[in-house]
Amino acid sequence: MSKPIRIAVVGMGKIAHDQHLPAIHADPGLELVATVSRRGESVGDLPHFNDITELAASGFEVDAVGLCTPPQVRWAIAQFAIEQGWHTFLEKPPGETLSEVIALQEAAKAQRVSLFASWHSRYAAGVEPAREWLSKRTIERVTITWREDVRVWHPGQTWIWEPGGFGVFDPGINALSIATRILPSPFFVQRCELDMPSNRDAPIAARVAFRDTSGAVIDMDLDFRQEGKQSWDIVVRTDSGILTLSEGGSVLHVDGTTDSPRGLDLAGEYPGLYRRFADIIREGISDVDLRPLRLVADAFLCARRIEVEPFVE
Ligand code: NAP
Repeated sequence: MSKPIRIAVVGMGKIAHDQHLPAIHADPGLELVATVSRRGESVGDLPHFNDITELAASGFEVDAVGLCTPPQVRWAIAQFAIEQGWHTFLEKPPGETLSEVIALQEAAKAQRVSLFASWHSRYAAGVEPAREWLSKRTIERVTITWREDVRVWHPGQTWIWEPGGFGVFDPGINALSIATRILPSPFFVQRCELDMPSNRDAPIAARVAFRDTSGAVIDMDLDFRQEGKQSWDIVVRTDSGILTLSEGGSVLHVDGTTDSPRGLDLAGEYPGLYRRFADIIREGISDVDLRPLRLVADAFLCARRIEVEPFVE
């Protein structure tokens, strides 16, 4: 058996702790060897470095990095990692802008390292069965409802409200990562409204109308102000039945029949992501699908902005 891929995790926040560390530990093909954390967070006796340049300067050997920082700082860290010859796993969204991710793709190609733009929601249990079922049908209408309570899911994450933080599109882009995977035809933005808190630089809610190339209408409703029941649902009406993907892609219903009964749980998604990362490293390829980010960029491009009341956490 080949040696495990030696990984350093960069940015020891919520997703690093909740998902990256357990997924790496559980995979015999991977070995966590170091952490990079501005606050000096380490794991057990493993070495930690305050930033990625310190890791490189130390001469400590790694094969790959998993970048779990906010999107606004991801390009500089990823570019540096690629220059070191390290395979690079980008949390979603893969960058603050499209052009910087394209630049990373080119850098990774030149350095012959694997770049992975991860979309964790695509690894939810219902997504591949949904794609298969929809591939044989004509899509008539799609409704995406992604409404969650930002105070519950993103406490203290000030970066989400800053320029380049995506606001409600931080979770909303997960819905688009699923929709671009399961819907058979390409689709594009027609109209967008953004609700902008008067004291913030990113939207707290958004309504986006898309259509696909065969004429189906796709409506997306995103809201960070949801209290009580949370919704991460995609409903697809087709010429022969209705498909519902709920709980962020993990529960699939086709005409009322439950196909994959699981609660909302990212736990199955990250092992799948890291398996894919290890596979592309072994194959010597990159995996970068820009479509979800492109749709969000287009939504911002054509949006009508509506000022709403200030958001105070
Ligand atoms: P978070 O809890 O705020 O953690 C981000 C970490 O990045 C911070 O703890 C910090 O770690 C580091 N960091 C913050 N600002 C930085 C800066 N200016 N320069 C360098 N490092 C910085 O955020 P998160 O929820 O883990 O989200 C991180 C990424 O994962 C986002 O892109 C998000 O969309 C994605 N994601 C999050 C979730 C979720 O459930 N939270 C799920 C899937 C994907 P150190 O102090 O250790 O350096």
